[in-house]
Amino acid sequence: MTKVTPRPTTDFLRPDRDRHLSESNPFEEMMSRLKRAAELLKLEPGLFKILSHCEKQITVSIPVLMDNGEVEVFTGYRVLHNTSRGPAKGGIRFDMQVNIDEVKALAAWMTWKCAVVNIPFGGAKGGVICDPAKLSMGELERLTRRYTAGIINTLGPDSDVPAPDVNTNERVMAWVMDTYSMHMRHTVTAVVTGKPVEMGGSLGRREATGRGCMIVTRQALAHLGMQMQGATVAVQGFGNVGSVTAQLLHREGCKIVAIGDRVGSFHDPKGIDVDAAIAHVQKHKSLEGFTQGKAISSEELLAMDVDVLVPAALENVITGANAGSIRAKIICEGANGPTTAEADGILDEKGVFVIPDILANAGGVTVSYFEWVQDRGGYFWTEEVVNQRLEQIMVNSFRDVLELAKQHKVNMRTAAYMLSISRVANVHRLRGVYA
Ligand code: NAD
Repeated sequence: MTKVTPRPTTDFLRPDRDRHLSESNPFEEMMSRLKRAAELLKLEPGLFKILSHCEKQITVSIPVLMDNGEVEVFTGYRVLHNTSRGPAKGGIRFDMQVNIDEVKALAAWMTWKCAVVNIPFGGAKGGVICDPAKLSMGELERLTRRYTAGIINTLGPDSDVPAPDVNTNERVMAWVMDTYSMHMRHTVTAVVTGKPVEMGGSLGRREATGRGCMIVTRQALAHLGMQMQGATVAVQGFGNVGSVTAQLLHREGCKIVAIGDRVGSFHDPKGIDVDAAIAHVQKHKSLEGFTQGKAISSEELLAMDVDVLVPAALENVITGANAGSIRAKIICEGANGPTTAEADGILDEKGVFVIPDILANAGGVTVSYFEWVQDRGGYFWTEEVVNQRLEQIMVNSFRDVLELAKQHKVNMRTAAYMLSISRVANVHRLRGVYA
């Protein structure tokens, strides 16, 4: 009989390493954090291999009849990273920057995020390469419905539950829910979260991610012995997450000195009128034409001398190239993946306290979980109950991550990865490998 020499399993092998080397590749960014936490946890190499791979990747072509009578074909993705702890959960993004590595990274971040706040979901993400600003309402609806039909086999309250993300909202979720329900021949509210409240959405869901950011920022300020009252804040990205974070931090006494979106950034040392800025965006769809404060560049906003910087736009905005110029004391990552692994090291050296994305913006998925629970139970909670339960989960999760960070003398990001990876890995150990 031929003797089989076992392959060495002491090191974490990265067969994909030669394909993902760029600092700006979000999947590579996710992998480098996973690898570091796995080493500290002394994770079994087999489990590392499982967690390094996405369970399922779906690519669909989406033909859409445009208003001018022409047919356009868009590309969409849905990626399920890990479903060991429960149904896959993750948003749908409509953006020209969408690509498969970004969707894979975002799906994996969802796995870690759900585990950090200990809710019974796995991680998924979806995206369509399109510019929704150039689509009419009818085109957007047809695109959403055809994309939903394309990925319908994975969707379901027990298997894969989408939510809004960049450039998608309650309106889009309502179409996803309706399309799925039409195929199932009955109304299935729990197939998506972030829906309008009238059709099974949860009170407090729209504000949940920003509320979570506010709560963890408050915890971080307290931990560092800083006051919330008068703390200065700069917010990059003024959509759902950025605007609500700014609004709630302002209500808690912080001074929002700078805000910015994809068209412009504004600085006012006396404090931006956040409600006026929100009203402006509601009317004009962006901060274009906003008149308060001095117009500054996106880079100037990131480098502002503030107590708290909230990147709440897209990934890779704080990189090896600009991390040295960051002057904020705290970074609350409202966006997913705003900081690269190279920037992490620089921020650590500078003593910046980073509340990592998988903790900072987990308020959204937490209330999505509440929405899913309410839909399945057919019994709806008051906004106070939603906010109270969210507060409890965010405060406890911040405390758990901080404790682990102190215990292992690592930063908050590494601690958050260690906490979530150990939770996911433990379920894999209990379940075993299905043969
Ligand atoms: P959104 O579409 O509502 O807003 C995005 C904002 O970012 C807009 O103001 C846009 O103008 C701005 N932006 C885009 N490109 C920019 C650039 N280059 N420079 C400056 N600003 C830019 O999206 P959102 O739902 O607020 O999501 C923002 C981030 O938060 C994303 O990373 C998303 O994955 C993450 N996130 C969202 C939720 C949620 O519940 N919506 C939950 C967790 C994480």
